[in-house]
Amino acid sequence: MEIKNPQTSQEAMTLENVHGAHNYHPLPVVLDRGEGVYVWDIEGKQYFDFLSAYSAVNQGHCHPRIVNAMTEQAQKLTLTSRAFFNSNLGKYEQFVTSFFGYDKVLPMNTGAEAVETAIKIARKWAYDIKGVPANQAKIITCSENFHGRTTTIVSFSTDGVATGGFGPYTPGFEVIPYNDLTALKAALEDPNVAGFLVEPIQGEAGVNTPDDDYIVQAHALCKAANVLFIADEVQTGIARTGALLATCGKCTCAGACERQPTFAKADVLILGKALSGGAYPVSAVLADNEIMGVIHPGQHGSTFGGNPVAAEVGIAALLVIDEEHLAQNARTMGERFREAMEQLASESDLIVKARGRGLLNAIIINDSPESSTAWDLCVAMKDNGLLAKPTHGNIIRFAPPLVITEDQMEACISIIRDTVLGFKRA
Ligand SMILES: *Cc1c(COP(=O)(O)O)cnc(C)c1O
Repeated sequence: MEIKNPQTSQEAMTLENVHGAHNYHPLPVVLDRGEGVYVWDIEGKQYFDFLSAYSAVNQGHCHPRIVNAMTEQAQKLTLTSRAFFNSNLGKYEQFVTSFFGYDKVLPMNTGAEAVETAIKIARKWAYDIKGVPANQAKIITCSENFHGRTTTIVSFSTDGVATGGFGPYTPGFEVIPYNDLTALKAALEDPNVAGFLVEPIQGEAGVNTPDDDYIVQAHALCKAANVLFIADEVQTGIARTGALLATCGKCTCAGACERQPTFAKADVLILGKALSGGAYPVSAVLADNEIMGVIHPGQHGSTFGGNPVAAEVGIAALLVIDEEHLAQNARTMGERFREAMEQLASESDLIVKARGRGLLNAIIINDSPESSTAWDLCVAMKDNGLLAKPTHGNIIRFAPPLVITEDQMEACISIIRDTVLGFKRA
């Protein structure tokens, strides 16, 4: 059959609606091209991207260095499987482990796969090293978590939309309230606990930002209980929150670590999304030898994990973060953005408050999660040239690419201000 490109946004949306599963509810905009902080629709209208593909595009759309690394490698060798060695993987593994300060990395593709990998490592560690009786290992997770969409991962989700109709659920998980050290302490009393799986800031839950000392204290409690502290930094990692990692505050720019109140090196670190700058699915689990050593040949793997293109893309994506000082930029731009949003919240009764860290921020809309106010506001911002998406009904996340300049940020603040101040509720 003849395949032709849609000529209008309407045509493209109709094609997706008719032929694609309806597992998403996208904002009505059809993106056709991207560069840096900008994306363009089919009709050529330009937008600021304030979602960055859920923080996968931290380095900006189509970063030339990342695209070059990808296309050059794609013309040489794309996939070998791990049945053989390839000449890119070891180089990448050496680089990524030294970049984040771990002995070993286990490469995967998507965030959910990396979370699954971390769960398997934690269980295996519990049996082989900690001495938990067979099939008794437990992993503690937090309410309102988001760790991905596999059947095991949704088993410990507290979001009814994500879990409903998908049982039976995988056992071996206990859910405690987020940002609650007392609950964590109580849960850690069970000697069969293998790990505590936590997001340093809950992105999907609406940039739910815990107390400054939560992560450090939780890490210390886990250490005292001989339980693995497993950080899911798929969304918060790679400079998004103003430091290389939200857990460790390790940053490539001087002075960063002092500002970050949190310093907790995760026993198991989960990365994805911006590990490729959005060019390609690249995820990873990092741990030191005494933990990663529990995984032996045949026990875990992925056909595409650690492929040559992913290896080259991963190196380029991290070099961009480092050389363009994106953690530092996220921190300074983020401070300016929150200041502007707090100002706006004081002027408009439409906004309850702003919260976040670095360039992972959100505003809470003064209406119920069931109302269409946040959605309508996002549609109005789209019409004014800025793309953001509501999460959990009445929260709007703002997460632009970290390459955003001061002038661009001021332009974006103006768009958000004008839209909010001119908005009429339905
Ligand atoms: C996006 C995300 C995931 C899942 O990543 P996928 O690549 O969509 O599978 C896991 N954890 C967190 C915190 C995320 O934000």
